[in-house]
Amino acid sequence: MFGKVLIANRGEIALRILRACRELGVRTVAVHSEADTEAKYVKLADESVCIGPAPSSQSYLNIPAIISAAEVTDAEAIHPGYGFLSENADFGERVEKSGFAFIGPRPETIRLMGDKVSAKDAMKAAGVPCVPGSEGALPDDPKEIVKIGRAVGYPVIIKAAGGGGGRGMRVVHTEAALINAVAMTRAEAGAAFNNPTVYMEKFLENPRHVEIQVLSDAHRNSVYLGERDCSMQRRHQKVIEEAPAPDINRRVLARLGDRCAEACRKISYRGAGTFEFLYENGEFYFIEMNTRVQVEHPVTELITGIDIVQAQIRIAAGEKLWFKQRDIEIRGHAVECRINAEDPFKFTPSPGKINNWHPPGGPGIRVDSHAYSGYTVPPHYDSMIGKVIAYGDTREQAIRRMRIALSEMMVDGIKTNIPLHQDLMLDQRFIKGGASIHYLEEKLAARSEATKGK
Ligand code: ADP
Repeated sequence: MFGKVLIANRGEIALRILRACRELGVRTVAVHSEADTEAKYVKLADESVCIGPAPSSQSYLNIPAIISAAEVTDAEAIHPGYGFLSENADFGERVEKSGFAFIGPRPETIRLMGDKVSAKDAMKAAGVPCVPGSEGALPDDPKEIVKIGRAVGYPVIIKAAGGGGGRGMRVVHTEAALINAVAMTRAEAGAAFNNPTVYMEKFLENPRHVEIQVLSDAHRNSVYLGERDCSMQRRHQKVIEEAPAPDINRRVLARLGDRCAEACRKISYRGAGTFEFLYENGEFYFIEMNTRVQVEHPVTELITGIDIVQAQIRIAAGEKLWFKQRDIEIRGHAVECRINAEDPFKFTPSPGKINNWHPPGGPGIRVDSHAYSGYTVPPHYDSMIGKVIAYGDTREQAIRRMRIALSEMMVDGIKTNIPLHQDLMLDQRFIKGGASIHYLEEKLAARSEATKGK
């Protein structure tokens, strides 16, 4: 096991990684920007290093500063968390070339799966079902694009090969709008992801977002830890996640899980990862793979009893997986609400000082958050300030516990989306289970229509 791990991230996931390290007896180095100097997890770490000013381009994305921090503190490995540099193959390469272990997949795997076009090709070859669409990237010739659009059938969605975080996507309903949409997505993708490559997929009208969590060691042992349903989304971003996915045939899910584990062996995957699918009319369609720990990993931890972050660290240290697929037992149900510092109606960010922070507790409640009374949410980063996760023997119990937890939770001084979550925990469609990825947007549109002029 490593003696010391550097945590190249901030916020709740930095604290989560710190806790995993502590339980493994590993010392920690927190790196932070000038805006995060006072953060509690920075003080909890064994050592801390300031890596630059507040803007993430100069701190959390500053590769040379992070590598030097690892050098001066004698860390042996670097955990990238999620976001920031976690899916940057060049970073992984620099980390390994500088003599540190990268807690994640090999850089070439990150590169392969980071480009959605090559990821889809690799998955097709591995026998994983994909969303129908263009064979690889779209060509330049408008006539060819029109032909592909006709073959795929409208509506279609134009997606950036290098896209992420719900950005770089455009739905097209008619042939008349196609060429312009392709040009606009290309321009945006070039500016935002430095890669103007786009591809086309059939736009699924009523799918659910269902994803498979995998763990693979460096010795070609791979398992899947069940699935998660993340269909409650706003602007292609997840708001609520749960596991298992309600009302899907367990045998079909097990077959899909086996395929994913098999695909991991084929590409010599290393570490934790997630295969994301859209699920419609009983069929699964691969959309992308995330080669890192995900925000929603706790729901899987609660139903499997496996600590995914510790597993990442142990795998990076070279350990063989210490359990087999047949040892993994799914028990109970877990729901996660992402708590954002934002206006619950307008969704504008609401950074600032939290005067009073009172997290919920009790049976089956887990809170992953770096916030506390007196903590100031900086305006420079993502608005997520924590996650409330509720576990129960059944889905009904998990939801009931979540309602109680949200009613206990107090965050004074800034606005949060807790009222939205409270509303959703009482929403009949959510309670029934299995709503599509468009449900939340439709509900929000109806809500703003109803309050217009008030
Ligand atoms: P990102 O990397 O930005 O998260 P994804 O490819 O994972 O992008 O897609 C994010 C979300 O966008 C999906 O969960 C889904 O809601 C929507 N989406 C993506 N592809 C399609 C599609 N072919 N049809 C319908 N919705 C889609």
